[in-house]
Amino acid sequence: MVTRITKNISLVAEHLKQGGIAAVPTETVYGLAANALNPEAVLKIYQTKRRPTFNPLIVHLNNTDDLGKYVSYVPKSAFKLMQKYSPGALTFVLKKKRTIPDIVTAGLDTVAIRFPKHRVMNSLIEQCRFPLCAPSANRFGKISPTTAHEVKQDLDVLIEFILDGGRSNLGIESTVVAFDRNVPVILRYGAVTQEQIESVCGKVKSTRNLTIISPGMIKDHYAPQTPLLLYEGNLSSLKELKWDITTLFLKRGQSLRDFSSELFTRLRKADRKNAEYIVAALVDNNGIGRAINDRLKKASSGFLVLEGGEFKIRKKS
Ligand code: AMP
Ligand code: MG
Repeated sequence: MVTRITKNISLVAEHLKQGGIAAVPTETVYGLAANALNPEAVLKIYQTKRRPTFNPLIVHLNNTDDLGKYVSYVPKSAFKLMQKYSPGALTFVLKKKRTIPDIVTAGLDTVAIRFPKHRVMNSLIEQCRFPLCAPSANRFGKISPTTAHEVKQDLDVLIEFILDGGRSNLGIESTVVAFDRNVPVILRYGAVTQEQIESVCGKVKSTRNLTIISPGMIKDHYAPQTPLLLYEGNLSSLKELKWDITTLFLKRGQSLRDFSSELFTRLRKADRKNAEYIVAALVDNNGIGRAINDRLKKASSGFLVLEGGEFKIRKKS
């Protein structure tokens, strides 16, 4: 199959209406989309990504008025968050109606819903007249793509169309939030920060001690081919390291927001250098820093540590 990069929204809408799948642009990362109401089409996403079917998908809508067709209940705090951050990079896990096929939610009785903020994506949903499932357009466990070209590197020959909508300006996935009665629980850190959520509905609950499950919270993800090691020591001491490494650090004076938006692209670039290891450092664990650290930890295979004046690798447990 030849993979075409196109800007023709109607062409891709037609393909999706026929039960096909296509890569699509969003403001977070590029997604691999199918009609969320068509189980056979959704199955093609899992097969193409080689994503385990226990890992549920996010359903994208372009209009909050449609919500009632797919979910049975919206807690007050979810409603407030929706007013403030939708459209945007916040995904809501809510009780589902039977209109959403089981394959979309991996059999759970909840569905994850997001309203993207991207002109091309919203116009595509508009033309399709059905919601789109769209997990990141990469093989399962690999680095998420933020341009049409990066999608082609991963899924060339496997899909017919990549709808080009420019670079994803956020460059990192959405924040996934569930609700324990009326209290938000962050299941995945992402582009909307915990602080932004708390400014609307007060303290969020931690996922520890909770029964809410998110089957997609797998420890290893976003992984480059080159093993990535996290380094917590003094950066200047790395000069002593004689190994063949390439580094991935916050640049001097760079904001965490800017670092998060280029993280996946820099990870890909680092990977292409074919060094023996990529060495990366975590950032301050607040704001968007939590999402950055989550991705770096999942992408890593261990730690680089300096012990007794010698560099060693400590494997991730
Ligand atoms: P992805 O599509 O790969 O960006 O990931 C979607 C994330 O949302 C995964 O971490 C899933 O586990 C999570 N998710 C999707 N649907 C649900 C759900 N119904 N309940 C809990 N987590 C969900
Ligand atoms: Mg993904």
